[in-house]
Amino acid sequence: MRTLITGGAGFIGSHLCERFLNEGHEVIAVDNLITGDLANLDILRTNPRFRFIGHDISNPLKVKDKLDNVLHFASPASPVDYLEHPIPTLKVGALGTHNTLGLAKAHDARYLVASTSEVYGDPLEHPQKETYWGNVNPIGIRGCYDEAKRFAESIVMAYHRAHGVNTHIVRIFNTYGPAMRLNDGRVLPNFMYQALMGQPLTVYGDGKQTRSFQYVSDLVEGVWRLLHTDYHEPVNIGNPAEITIQEFAEEILKLSGSASKIEYRPLPQDDPKVRQPDITRAKQLLGWEPKVGRDEGLRRTLDFFKKKLGK
Ligand code: UDP
Repeated sequence: MRTLITGGAGFIGSHLCERFLNEGHEVIAVDNLITGDLANLDILRTNPRFRFIGHDISNPLKVKDKLDNVLHFASPASPVDYLEHPIPTLKVGALGTHNTLGLAKAHDARYLVASTSEVYGDPLEHPQKETYWGNVNPIGIRGCYDEAKRFAESIVMAYHRAHGVNTHIVRIFNTYGPAMRLNDGRVLPNFMYQALMGQPLTVYGDGKQTRSFQYVSDLVEGVWRLLHTDYHEPVNIGNPAEITIQEFAEEILKLSGSASKIEYRPLPQDDPKVRQPDITRAKQLLGWEPKVGRDEGLRRTLDFFKKKLGK
């Protein structure tokens, strides 16, 4: 089996590369490294079944060797990253999805695209089921990511319907774990960095907004299982354990034993007020549910950041 993974040097992409190598696949990681990091691939690069191609998948890519699976995970994915790179975000979600679909079609390969809970926008339905169409501001500052992913889902379904490509769509909810970038601007790396460096934890707004955090190994298991179905509609993969951002800050302070205070900052525009996956579909279709609770997941992630910071 040969599997191509775009965004392979990113946080989730590098975990996927590792899993597919462990399953015996040959893995080709494609990344332009605007938010990915080759250091995530250091261990994998010694594996003879692993290959890295430095390439922006918003431009077409030809691969000679027969591909069995194409997974499209390339994209800036944290609000800070996609605010900084709005046009590459739109291009990789739109043109990158088109190009990877073309690859899958040419190779008659299974295809899976990384979509996101952001397709639900600031949701008016709670928790979010796959049948909910969302509440997205197309011209807001988050629109470049949300709409690119909504377009991605649309073109993936079109390739399935028009060309019979064996496509899959995973809607990924907030995910964390080792290999996250310390400076990606997301809440977990920010809070852990701040706690470890003795800086104030920056809670945006009043901290009453909620998120539901899943550990990366649970996501990888869900992606693996979904890829091996013949189910083509979107599937939420996330951990339904919902928490307010205020509680999350307190949890990280306690876990790290940090004496940092909490400071409040303005809430960014269009920041969703609530987010929680309904995972009924994943449970029924994949026999999947998350296995790693926040206690264990946060401890493992804190250990990773401590090592990175020499703490
Ligand atoms: N957030 C925060 N402090 C930070 C970074 C983020 O309070 O230093 C909040 C942010 O406003 C949002 C939530 O934490 O309500 C999750 O933000 P993140 O950037 O991790 O991703 P999102 O879930 O919004 O895509």
